[in-house]
Amino acid sequence: MGFLSGKKALITGIASTRSIATGIAEAMHREGAELAYTYAIDKLKSRVEDQAHSTNSTLVTALDVTKDAEIESTFKAIKDAWGGLDIVIHSIGFAPRELLAGGYLETVTRDGYAIAHDISAYSFAALGKAARPLMQGRAGAMLTLSYGVERAVPNYNVMGPAKASLEANVRYMAAELGPENIRVNCISAGPIKTLAASGIKGFRNMLNLAEKVAPLKRLVTIEEVGNVAAFLVSDLASAVTGEIVYVDAGFSIIGLNPPEADDE
Ligand code: NAD
Repeated sequence: MGFLSGKKALITGIASTRSIATGIAEAMHREGAELAYTYAIDKLKSRVEDQAHSTNSTLVTALDVTKDAEIESTFKAIKDAWGGLDIVIHSIGFAPRELLAGGYLETVTRDGYAIAHDISAYSFAALGKAARPLMQGRAGAMLTLSYGVERAVPNYNVMGPAKASLEANVRYMAAELGPENIRVNCISAGPIKTLAASGIKGFRNMLNLAEKVAPLKRLVTIEEVGNVAAFLVSDLASAVTGEIVYVDAGFSIIGLNPPEADDE
């Protein structure tokens, strides 16, 4: 019996076996949760179905978060299959690639800003809104993933403000849903080599620096993020809500690079 046994969870954001959402799904499956999955585009369907199969799940729906109809049909499928829902994992982020290479003001556009905020931040509120009625009378939990909010990260650009909006969503949603016993939290993960991350120019430098500077002197894995995510959405974290939890080997606590990081 794992600490998530009896829980029903929706996992979004799987694009590959390296996705953070894959690490989260694996940890949640190990702890006994029953999982439903979504895929953003048809090209990812069979990959997500394979992941579902490997965790004994058959509930897989199409969900491009820019499409209200797909949000509606996903939650309808969950309602039909399960009657209710305990957990939502939102592991979705996107900005047009050309905005992730160069200076922030150099690259930002009205359209790009709107797209990044729509897909990376508004979508969490949209999923929260759709999940809310299905979580009534249960100990609900929602979780999202953030990065690069408090300090400016080269080339991350418009994603910084989008993630800041996402983190504000976490607090506003947590405040509103708390009286319904629904918790809302966020993990700010250290850099991990995934498909989304490889769209950011110079991401390799980010990995190198994090590895050198972080107190634990290493990068974090999707398994480690998965373990913290599983804890946060479980009843073990029943008094934790509205939090941004850093899973970054300590990188974010460092104010200045240690001298050895500048040596090379
Ligand atoms: P990933 O590429 O594996 O996952 C990103 C996911 O977003 C993909 O599954 C993609 O299909 C989905 N997506 C994009 N547009 C979508 C849309 N319109 N509708 C539905 N889904 C859509 O990369 P990842 O690194 O696992 O990213 C997951 C989350 O973790 C993102 O929010 C990312 O910003 C965040 N994060 C990543 C890192 C990192 O270094 N990799 C660090 C901290 C936070």
